[in-house]
Formats: sequence, C-alpha cells, structure tokens
Amino acid sequence: MNEFHSVVLDKDKCNGCTNCMRRCPTEAIRVRDKKAVILKERCIDCGECIRVCPYHAQKAVTDDLDKLKQFKFNVAIPAMSLYGQFDMDIDMNKVFNGIKKLGFDYVYDEGYAADISTTVIRNIIKDKNLPKPVISSLCPAVLRLIQVRFPTLIDHIIKIESPMEIAARMARKEVMEKYGFKSEEIGVFYISQCPAKVASIKDPIGIKQSNLDGSISIKKIYGDIVRSTKSVEKVERIVRATPKGIDWARAGGQSRAIGVENYIAVDGIENVIKVLEEMELGKLDNIDYFEGLACVGGCVGGPLNVENPFIARNRIRRISQGKSNIAEIDENYALELYEKGLITWTEEIQPKGVMKLDTDIGNAIKKIEKIDELMNTLPGLDCGSCGAPTCYALAEDIVRGKAKLDDCIIISKRNK
Ligand code: SF4
Ligand code: SF4
Repeated sequence: MNEFHSVVLDKDKCNGCTNCMRRCPTEAIRVRDKKAVILKERCIDCGECIRVCPYHAQKAVTDDLDKLKQFKFNVAIPAMSLYGQFDMDIDMNKVFNGIKKLGFDYVYDEGYAADISTTVIRNIIKDKNLPKPVISSLCPAVLRLIQVRFPTLIDHIIKIESPMEIAARMARKEVMEKYGFKSEEIGVFYISQCPAKVASIKDPIGIKQSNLDGSISIKKIYGDIVRSTKSVEKVERIVRATPKGIDWARAGGQSRAIGVENYIAVDGIENVIKVLEEMELGKLDNIDYFEGLACVGGCVGGPLNVENPFIARNRIRRISQGKSNIAEIDENYALELYEKGLITWTEEIQPKGVMKLDTDIGNAIKKIEKIDELMNTLPGLDCGSCGAPTCYALAEDIVRGKAKLDDCIIISKRNK
C-alpha cells in the first residue's frame, strides 16, 4: 500500500507530555519510552497533534522552493485560505504576482476550481437516487476518517475531485496548450494550509495519481511572499475566483455557494466525529448535503496557515459578501468537464478497517471478549500514564500484542 503521511514527529523535541495523544481523534498516538509514536495506519493527517504540541515536536513535511529546479516550468496553486492571510486592502493579484516572483512561471487560483466544483455539485445533488446526505469530498482528513472509523458512509461521498486537484489538472492543460511544454516538464505545486492535502498528493484519494508534483506550506514561505509582493511593480491580473469560490475556505462556504438549503456544515474534527456517528445511525437521512471540515473554521483554520483562524475567517466572510467584477463560471463549461470525466474520481475508495481487531470474525469475537475481560481489570481512569489514550485503547493494544497489562501503572504497582 502506498501510504504516505505528512505529519511526523521530531523525537528530539518530544517531551512525552501526552498532549497530542489525548487529542488525536483516531487514537493514532501512543507514548512509549517517553516519546510519542504515531501509528501510521490510523493517522488521518488532520494536524491536531501539530496544533496542540507545546514543544513543536509534531510537524508537517512539505517541499521546499528548491524542488522547482526539477522542472522547466512551474505552476503555483495558492490555497483559497491564502485570501484570509492578508489584510483586506491588499490586492490579491499583487500577492499572486509576488508568489510568481519566487520562481513560479504561472499561478492558478484554487478558488476558480472551487467555482467549477460549485456548479457541478449543484447539479449532481439534484439526483434523488444518491444516498443522503451527500458528503463533501473537500477535506481529505475527513475522507480518511470515514475510511478508518465510518466505512459504512463511504458510498455517501460525492465522487468529485477537490478544487486543488481540479486546479492542478486545468493549470497543467493550460500550460501545455499555451506554452507547448510536455506534462513531465511542468511542476505543479500547491501552496498549502493543510497537512492532509500534502499527504493526499503523495497518496491520493479517489484518483490513481495526483495532478500535483508537491506542496509548499504557506507557513514556510509566507515571509518570502510578503517581501516579494512588496517589490511587485507591474501587477498582472491573476485572480479568477468569484467571492463564492473563495468562500469555500470557510466552513459552510461550499454549501452556501452551491445554494443547497438543507445542509449541515461542521468544523473541528471532534464535532465532525459526533455528526458522523449520528449519520451512521441513519438519523440524518433527511439532510441533503454534509460539509465536514477537520479544522476549526474550515480551511482558514488549517495548521499550515499563519493568520489567526478567526481573523482569517472574518476576512473571507467580508470577501464573500463583497462586490466582484469576476463573472460566474459558465455552467455548460463546468458540466462539460464533468461529463468528460475530467473532474470525477476514477477509483473506489476502500474502508481501512484498522479499527477492526481481526479479519477472521471468530478471532475478532474472541479478542472483543478478551478486551471486555481486561476492562474489568483495568482501573478505567483513562489517565494516559500507560502511554495509550484510554484504558480501552490499552486493552486493544494488549490483545493486538503491542502492550502489556503491566504498562498500567496502577496494576504494575499492585503487582509489586
Ligand atoms: S495528524 Fe491527526 S490523526 Fe495523525 S497523529 Fe496527528 S492528531 Fe492523530
Ligand atoms: S479543513 Fe481544510 S485545512 Fe483542515 S484538514 Fe480539512 S482540507 Fe485541510
């Protein structure tokens, strides 16, 4: 399996404090020998651990500008959330020109791809035969969460590529047509707010291969962008997204853009989990569209941004409510892209099943019984001192052969 994770731990900085272990939504972290360990098969790259680590020991691996040297022609795709990282009075065309000066030959606005998606999704969800609610495919952390914890909901996910992938595909095609470069000569890079998107470039969801060659975090090059923007003299017009497309950066933005009335937009991974639990029980079948975003506030809250998410959200809201001289996407053009299969998923996504105890049902039942037995012995304090987030997680680790009962400090003391 081609499994790549952007989120990694810097062991030297880790203090074994358990903050990350307690917050990880998929119980993917253990603390062993006073160092955190990420269980790769459970990690969804949501970045919660990056946010909460007081020692900055968890980080997202992204590319450097140096990687541009590998290609003859380079394209930057700035994330929609970049609009929230600058004051309202800055012309984003100038910022995009500043990005171009960092070594890119072309800049393609991700928000424009969100405009294309908006039109297509608006039409798709009219289909009465789709399982309701239709789940947005925007947030790769939520998609991974569904694969890992809510596999029965996989069929609800709309099979449309994310704006990042649509933008990359369109940009590559434009460059090939306009400048005559071959696909392999073009490097397409996402200017990213999101570790989950970074991971989804190397290990794509719903498509065989990403249209991107890498990603560079906003955080890493923000200072360079600001400096470079200041030296832009002649501003070339690059911005193409409508305020509705840009609004996708904020929780609820895509539902508002689509114009669906009966939707639920949920931000923050723990809130998303609670709503998916309800959905799994069939309690939300009367809802048309579900927009779940792992970060608080939506992509404006992505851990690789620089601006406070609440301030960034305010800016995006003001942009979305403001006037614009950019025309809405031609509906026929967007639907043609869809009908030609250019923006749809080509691969089925599979349950990850890592939460299952055994592929053999008989063995799985025996292991559940063993866990129940262990739970009668364990103190039930969920104190985390054993290095697992809960007593139940320790019991699971024990039946998987990855921990021992003595790891519980209370039991260990009792046995001495
Ligand atoms: S990125 Fe998210 S899922 Fe992965 S270890 Fe960190 S908190 Fe857990
Ligand atoms: S909400 Fe946006 S930034 Fe956060 S994980 Fe999802 S796609 Fe990434």
